[in-house]
Amino acid sequence: MESFIPTTIQLSYLGATALFFLGLKKLGSPATARQGNTLAAGGMLIAVVATLLDLQVVNYPMIGGAIALGSIIGVIAAKKVAMTDMPQMVGLLNGLGGAASALVAIAEFYRLLGEGNVPLNATITAILGSLIGGITFTGSAIAFAKLQGLITGKPVSLPGQQIINIFLFASFIAGSGLLLFNPLNTVAFLAITAIALVLGLFLVLPIGGGDMPVVISLLNSLSGLAASAAGFVVMNNVLIIAGALVGASGLILTEIMCKGMNRSLPNVLFSAFGATAAGGGGGATADGGDKSVHKIDAEEGAMMLGYARSVVIVPGYGMAVAQAQHSVRELADQLEKKGVDVKYAIHPVAGRMPGHMNVLLAEANVSYGQLHDMDDINPEFERTDVALVIGANDVVNPDAKTDSSSPIYGMPILEVDKAKNTIVIKRSLKPGYAGIDNNLFYRDNTMMYFGSAKEAVGQLVSEVKQL
Ligand code: NDP
Repeated sequence: MESFIPTTIQLSYLGATALFFLGLKKLGSPATARQGNTLAAGGMLIAVVATLLDLQVVNYPMIGGAIALGSIIGVIAAKKVAMTDMPQMVGLLNGLGGAASALVAIAEFYRLLGEGNVPLNATITAILGSLIGGITFTGSAIAFAKLQGLITGKPVSLPGQQIINIFLFASFIAGSGLLLFNPLNTVAFLAITAIALVLGLFLVLPIGGGDMPVVISLLNSLSGLAASAAGFVVMNNVLIIAGALVGASGLILTEIMCKGMNRSLPNVLFSAFGATAAGGGGGATADGGDKSVHKIDAEEGAMMLGYARSVVIVPGYGMAVAQAQHSVRELADQLEKKGVDVKYAIHPVAGRMPGHMNVLLAEANVSYGQLHDMDDINPEFERTDVALVIGANDVVNPDAKTDSSSPIYGMPILEVDKAKNTIVIKRSLKPGYAGIDNNLFYRDNTMMYFGSAKEAVGQLVSEVKQL
């Protein structure tokens, strides 16, 4: 029995790891993503059950109580959270993951301290666990508070913030040196943990609310690394592997987001880009100044769409806020009934998190085959009769290609300006996330249909039905 249980646990960990890999692979395509999620969750269940079999577990009722409480809170939170609030929910979960890892590092350090002997490898992993876990916890708490509107979304920093951060980091290194020299120095351990917590605050507070999704993705990666460090602390293979997987995928996601915005990670972290963006105000005017636009109503829009041969729908953040995805699907169904070829063009950073549009459209049962990535669909706009932009702005702004002074110059865009006609649904001429005006709105072949996405698309559906 004594050797049977550890072997069973290690074999279960191997099975769980295989399910994580398979799950991640399947998450690569929207068609298999749900299955991937279930497989990875199954792997996690196996890992948890196997860990509970460990003979070192001392208090089952306490663990059971914590699992029950956590599950109740998790189910309620997952059911209640709106799709548009998902980034901050992920932020909160990352923060708790970081805190848990830091607590594991601290608890293990104190356990070894009680035994009067903290080996070098345990000291190193405890230092890493408290650094990464501490920064992830407070950094994620600030990211959550900014996105939830609990504190200002504007960059906030002390005078000489960078120097203060460098000083704190140097103090962390010095404290870690002391601890490595004398692992029984609890004051040094508590001091470096406190410094890590303050560093998390000071690193995220100066970043604008608009850039929080990228920060959250980075913190997600850090929470994985923190879990991996905790895995080394307690020598648990599956925790090390699962943490490394989260760390790597979070980094890849961060890179995809930066690339989609044509910005570097240091630019996101240190340029205070969100200063104007979070408010959505920016330098653009709400009415476009002297420039004029072509306004249309639902009836005219329906005529253009219903008599087109091909329509490409471009969803953006406004569709998510308005929860218009079901009406959009209904409109596409009606158009297809009339023989119109309907496709959806998905920009990698449309909305406020990667995959935002894919998730919403999948929720409305839009078939995956109709969703096209930017690189696939851009060459098709020239042959498209109508590009229908619904609550998207920056991701279709032609200035990104032509105006080298634009803050989004170089950002790859969906080239709707090349379509024969473009209809834009939004409530006003106000800018989007980047806070800049969009010349697309003033073009001869662009028609502005003002309204909130859900109602506006609903009216288009009724009008198309009457054609
Ligand atoms: P934008 O933020 O550029 O524009 C959204 C538009 O939606 C606004 O101009 C707004 O105009 C309109 N809108 C808001 N509410 C409604 C409503 N109820 N009905 C209709 N329209 C509405 O969104 P995009 O999706 O085009 O671009 C995403 C931006 O977010 C990019 O700049 C990207 O870099 C950034 N970003 C994205 C991340 C990601 O991972 N997806 C991460 C970080 C940043 P109006 O007020 O006039 O209605």
